[in-house]
Amino acid sequence: MPEITLHTSTLFNPKQKKFVKGVSIKVNTQSGLITKVFTRNDAKQPLPDVLTDGEVDLRGKFVMPGFVDAHTHIFLHSYDEASAITQKRDESMPERIIRAVNHCRTALLAGYTTYRDLGSESMQDADANVRDAIARGLIPGPRLFVATRVLASTGSFESRTENSMGGHCLPAGAEAVDGVEEIRKAVRRRIAAGADVIKFFADYRRRIMRSPPAVQHPYVPSVLHPPKEPNPDYVVFSQEEMDMIVAEANLAKCPVAAHCCTLEGAMGAIKAGVKTIEHVYGVTDEMFHLMKEKGCIMVPTLAIAEQIHKQKFASLQVQTKRAHDLGVRVACGGDTGTFRHGDNAREMELMIEAGIQLEDVLEACTVGGWESCGADLCGRRFGWLEEGTQADIIALETDPRLDKAALRKVDFVMKDAKIWKQDGNAIGMI
Ligand SMILES: [Zn+2]
Repeated sequence: MPEITLHTSTLFNPKQKKFVKGVSIKVNTQSGLITKVFTRNDAKQPLPDVLTDGEVDLRGKFVMPGFVDAHTHIFLHSYDEASAITQKRDESMPERIIRAVNHCRTALLAGYTTYRDLGSESMQDADANVRDAIARGLIPGPRLFVATRVLASTGSFESRTENSMGGHCLPAGAEAVDGVEEIRKAVRRRIAAGADVIKFFADYRRRIMRSPPAVQHPYVPSVLHPPKEPNPDYVVFSQEEMDMIVAEANLAKCPVAAHCCTLEGAMGAIKAGVKTIEHVYGVTDEMFHLMKEKGCIMVPTLAIAEQIHKQKFASLQVQTKRAHDLGVRVACGGDTGTFRHGDNAREMELMIEAGIQLEDVLEACTVGGWESCGADLCGRRFGWLEEGTQADIIALETDPRLDKAALRKVDFVMKDAKIWKQDGNAIGMI
């Protein structure tokens, strides 16, 4: 039998939100699934100090399901290194693919066994191809659920520069569509292109998004009443257009994610029935109640907000805690890629800093991630450990209840019953 048995002393069970003792897990390396989870009786039948072949000793470590980052971009690297515009303008497609390969390996070694990748950022449908390459074992990486191209209305998303003569001077990132019939077709095109999740912009910096992006027209000192926000977000789809995106995606049993930076945009998306709302900068309790009623998940992307919204960041942490307190489902997605792949755990650290219990955060970064991918509609179960779930298992070197940095000390990584990291070292990577 192609079986491996992992022995743990401390295991986090996200369904119970508890650390449990003395559990062993059998996995099948052919199916990639867990075949058995059982509690040992170490007093009666102690394990030997040295285990046999086919056994992995994770005793003394802090074991949990592999993490799920619910908002990533494999084709982006940190904005500290280059802006999104620079990356799209100056980096070739091969370079961006090679970077994505590196990003995926780094993410896996950081304990992230699933990525929900929300937009290919001018790389067309290549995210679906990278997903398939990983699934076929060509490169190591998280299991990807991809959005391919994001939907936006005409003129609402694409980066424009002063020198574009009114046109676009960068490869298009989003698919521009208007009106319910065009939208119906666009969702069908995305599904056909291999999208696992449909992503759309409910709002965006619609009027001016030049480089540099903070410039507001007219940018002369004689403006008497300059707007507080030089480049504000506006809603870019009507309610009926948002409704159509969700209705058509539902036919394909495909979850929908909406980028929402305004309250109006978020309310429209929630009413339309999206599975997740991303960023979520404008909120009210009424909105949170509606989310709860509709089963809509909040992905607050605190890790990118920490970088680009320093002034309002404290309030974003407060509102994330508020949402959680009111019973809104929260998932962990950092908008990873806009900062370094491998630093994904920053999102969990910021949620903990916001006052959410460690156990709740770990659950949001595992089961919450699976739900964001569509739960059973995504065709797999991951994010918790029981018979029949994917054998995605990681171990931390130190106790996250005691060590704030523990989430970054990933000592062991198994995905689909294949070991990629052991005793802190990458293995099986050529
Ligand atoms: Zn994003």
